[in-house]
Amino acid sequence: MPVPVCTLCGTEYEETDQPPDLCAICADDRQYVLPSGQKWTNSEALAAGYANTFRELEPGLMAIAMAPKFAIGQQALLVMTPAGNVLWDCIPLIDEATARIIEALGGLSAIAISHPHYYSAMVSWSETLGGVPVHLHEDDRAWVMRDSDNIRFWSGDVTEILPGVTMVRTGGHFAGSCVLHWADGADGRGAMLCGDTLQVNPDCRRVSFMRSYPSYMPLSARVVERLVGRLAPYDFERLYGPFAGKAVLANAKAEMLRSADIYVEAVSGRGEADREA
Ligand SMILES: [Zn+2]
Ligand SMILES: [Zn+2]
Repeated sequence: MPVPVCTLCGTEYEETDQPPDLCAICADDRQYVLPSGQKWTNSEALAAGYANTFRELEPGLMAIAMAPKFAIGQQALLVMTPAGNVLWDCIPLIDEATARIIEALGGLSAIAISHPHYYSAMVSWSETLGGVPVHLHEDDRAWVMRDSDNIRFWSGDVTEILPGVTMVRTGGHFAGSCVLHWADGADGRGAMLCGDTLQVNPDCRRVSFMRSYPSYMPLSARVVERLVGRLAPYDFERLYGPFAGKAVLANAKAEMLRSADIYVEAVSGRGEADREA
């Protein structure tokens, strides 16, 4: 039986011919339901109408995205290491062609996901690629819409998925929001894969932080200070966002810290807007 998929966020649900009235991910205040109402598609329709593209971002890092764009339109990132490959975040389509390409690139050892907006078709991906573990933070357990024995909930702030590939829980956008640190990225200077935990600004230098990006709800200064504080132990030259072309390719950690200073000043009542009032 095909798996129901929400057309707005791309989340797959339990196999049924009667999906729920509303997608819980979209009904949450961080996402939205369009005035035209909830719409569903399914995994068979996606496989018939879409394909996945592969693009190398740097040696050992591949972006996988649906074409044409579907739902939120994020990319998944395949981190390839001598100890195995990790898929960071997920997309709604997994088809035979994608599985064959990933097998040719060395297969998949694990899936790790930043937060519920990118849980997407994680169970279908895991099942198609040999039942690999899906690492999710325990704090976001309530947002899993299709359960599986392959899901591994973890707690605390840090877990190493493979040598040099570390998931760090920062919170913020969601209680369990995470980033993935890849120590060998950027020629050994380190890369941070950030999901929606941070977003890369249009200048591809600065970043920002939100509870809801589509609904323009910021995070407090305290939460952003805690978030960047959790990343203090990690070096990273580059920072890769969830959308094609959105990356900070040089001095990413310093740019993030400077961005956080600007953000905190703006939202804490010490900025220009408050002086004018
Ligand atoms: Zn949805
Ligand atoms: Zn999100």
